[in-house]
Amino acid sequence: MAIDSKAKALLAQGRDVVNFGAGEPDFDTPENIRDAGIKAINHGHTRYTAVGGIEALKSAICERIYADTGVQYTNEEILVSVGAKHSLYNATMALINPQDGVLLPVPYWVTYPEQITLAEGTVEYVPIAPSHEGELRVDDLAAAVTSRSKGLILNSPSNPSGAVIRPSVLEDIARFVIDHDLWVISDEIYNRLIYDDAVHASIAKFDGMKDRTILINGVSKSYAMTGWRIGYAAGPKHIIKAMSSLQSQSTSNPSTISQYAALEALTGPQEAVTVMQREFDRRRRYIVGRLNTMPKLSVATPQGAFYVWVNMEGWVGETIRGRLVQNADDLALAWLELADVAVVPGSGFGMPNYFRMSYATSMERIETGLDRMAALLEEAR
Ligand code: PMP
Repeated sequence: MAIDSKAKALLAQGRDVVNFGAGEPDFDTPENIRDAGIKAINHGHTRYTAVGGIEALKSAICERIYADTGVQYTNEEILVSVGAKHSLYNATMALINPQDGVLLPVPYWVTYPEQITLAEGTVEYVPIAPSHEGELRVDDLAAAVTSRSKGLILNSPSNPSGAVIRPSVLEDIARFVIDHDLWVISDEIYNRLIYDDAVHASIAKFDGMKDRTILINGVSKSYAMTGWRIGYAAGPKHIIKAMSSLQSQSTSNPSTISQYAALEALTGPQEAVTVMQREFDRRRRYIVGRLNTMPKLSVATPQGAFYVWVNMEGWVGETIRGRLVQNADDLALAWLELADVAVVPGSGFGMPNYFRMSYATSMERIETGLDRMAALLEEAR
């Protein structure tokens, strides 16, 4: 947050800061989807809907999930909410009782521990062994589980690391979950943004798992619709019902207009998803290649989402223009103040010697930003 507000202040002063902080696609919402939103307004779809969303959208979500994961849901097992973040919040509030332990693999997206805390649960951090190269494994979970553990939050592909858990590993995790009688919140919001030969699977598809999984997804990332605010949850009827009651008394239905746009996103032509995925892939290859040539940085090639997760341990204890670097916060601040580049330090994601860069920005800006980062490191090496 400190880096972000500083970056914004510099931008407001007119400084040409290259911002690698974006958590959203830089593309516009595809035209057919925008048109569906406009049509919804003009056709009078401007009133309340059922709390959990229109039936047509729920059906489209069931079909989408089935196509992507092979798991079959019915409309009563779906709740549409104000973005995936809202879906996660509803799920967290419905599932967690005070003092319940929730296993959270590190690095994690910043919102999960805060939501667990809001529900008065206890965050049980799960460090991933370095030899696992960012992929959560059962032995990581086994080392962290306690008698109070009730649930597990999974996020594959991961924000911030871009790691994708292989289906065979997910199957092992499913067995562990059943053995320990846990529930799972599986945030699959980046499932369509995967690269190389990575395969996305949902943990819900393994035997016995559909009854203990709340699958979370939405249209924000895949369809460049972050501002429309539509996310969804799929899970056991009684949990969806509890989440729906909470939503009923807090927000009611998500925007009716956005629901019609999301319906077009899920049922209309899907080419735009592929076009965006290819462009992200091109940038990903470039950025990883460049980062790995920079002194004392190392980065694994991410297989999903639109982030790279960079290890900067080599810089700990070094100085850059007289500034002592003790962690990624210091390095990020040096880049921001001395090179006009904003990256997100890993402290907020639970790993202070890493930083996250988003490649949801144009190739031209990526090149400029990397040039500046490299120049400062070369000067200091
Ligand atoms: N989950 C993860 C892992 C995310 O990165 C984000 C967005 N940054 C969300 C959920 C929330 O998405 P939405 O815009 O649909 O609320």
